[in-house]
Amino acid sequence: MTDSNRVHIFDTTLRDAEQTPGASLTVKEKLEIAHQLARLNVDIIEAGFPLSSNEDFEAVRRIAHEVEGPMVCGLARALAKDIERAGEALKDAPNPRIHTFIGTSEIHMQGQMRKGREDVLKMAVRAVELAKSFCDSVEFSPMDAARTDPGFLHEVIEATIAAGATTINIPDTVGYAVPEQFGTLIADILDGVPNSKDAIISVHCHDDLGMAVVNTLSALKNGARQAECTLNGLGERAGNASLEEVVMALRTRRDYFGLDTEIDAHEIIATSRLVSRLMGIAVPPNKAIVGANAFAHSSGIHQDGVLKARNTFEIMEPKDVGLEDTEIVLTARSGRHALRHRIEELGFSLSAEELEDAYGRFLELADKKKEIFDEDLIEIVGGQQREETTHYTLEYLHTVSGTGTVPSSTVRIAIGDEVVQESAWGDGPVDATYAAIRKVTSADVLLEDFTIRAVTSGSQALGEVTVHLTEDGRSARGRGVSTDVVEASAEAYIAALNRLFELTERDAHPTV
Ligand code: MN
Repeated sequence: MTDSNRVHIFDTTLRDAEQTPGASLTVKEKLEIAHQLARLNVDIIEAGFPLSSNEDFEAVRRIAHEVEGPMVCGLARALAKDIERAGEALKDAPNPRIHTFIGTSEIHMQGQMRKGREDVLKMAVRAVELAKSFCDSVEFSPMDAARTDPGFLHEVIEATIAAGATTINIPDTVGYAVPEQFGTLIADILDGVPNSKDAIISVHCHDDLGMAVVNTLSALKNGARQAECTLNGLGERAGNASLEEVVMALRTRRDYFGLDTEIDAHEIIATSRLVSRLMGIAVPPNKAIVGANAFAHSSGIHQDGVLKARNTFEIMEPKDVGLEDTEIVLTARSGRHALRHRIEELGFSLSAEELEDAYGRFLELADKKKEIFDEDLIEIVGGQQREETTHYTLEYLHTVSGTGTVPSSTVRIAIGDEVVQESAWGDGPVDATYAAIRKVTSADVLLEDFTIRAVTSGSQALGEVTVHLTEDGRSARGRGVSTDVVEASAEAYIAALNRLFELTERDAHPTV
């Protein structure tokens, strides 16, 4: 099947990236991302690991039944209980796939599973056969393939294709591969495994040495036809190959690769932002394709060149990835009708009641900052659609700061029916506010990370704050948006506390 120039894009944002500490999503949030992945037109969505939790099971089941377009995949170890659970989640779905895997490197077989080659080969074949009884499309991954003995790797691939695997995914699970060697590994599989043409060869690269994207491209150049990626390059540890980079590299350098994807690149920015917002992980400004500076020219010579002819210093146009020059869309004088129209253009659909709610928030914001941009509307609507535990709700915040003053903060927080007020001082207004919140909630949390950025331009822009908190080995992220950065900081901190509270509750009532 490698004669074709068509590369399948397999998105694992909802599975691999969702394993990022603190980035866990609710079922509703996963569905929202899955609908956007369908608009981006990915070929396959890996929606979760059904056996791992009831939430993951429910997410895979609902995405497989409700999201139209892409094939929907559930992950399963090469164990009957995993595969049966995945089969159950995908039952009667229009376009299902089961992805099963087992470690094949000596390190994984000896170190983790304490099994020999023969047992592992048998388990792999049995897993594929069982998966095949639930759906036609079956993907098999020899985990840690990049460190697997090539002879044994070929043997496993041949046997699992013979057992019915339709895609063989070659994972560089630990990010150990280098581009040329990894490309050769793929070329050797296509040449050396007799039935390799009966399956699509896929790759799944990790970025531990910063080579996930190049390793992926090298594999595609050598005949792989499925790339497993995530938005913003999120994923375990240093993350996975970034979808936007793989797609735009193939597209921009089609002269070199000669390969095509079916991705609608205009949806890249919207998808990147949605994932960043819901997972609470900000995109670094210098990130290729989707970073805030990816298309910003700061050198005078470059600016001059781009103004005269874009292609002097620009290999892609911002509009190619859905980054339009920000326009003023609405003001306080815009009516409900204009608001609804624009919101629908942005891909949201609201009930009459939700629209009324959004309109209220819109007027409030328009009052503060006069001009409302698309990004602001996404905050207004997206924020309200967010499904959050509200164990703690911020009711009142007052801070004092300035040169020669001791920064202090007073907060009033509702905890159920009770309202508690506390004050504290700190190094600055945010520090003081966090100290006051900790007094109210008696939370023994550690602030691991604090990021602040402007959602739109100008001094009245909405400020977005993302915090990462840990407590007793649990971790959670929270996000807050406001024209007042101290308020956004407080909201983010409380959102993370609410997530931590939810995780504690979940631990207290374990699911099977
Ligand atoms: Mn992975």
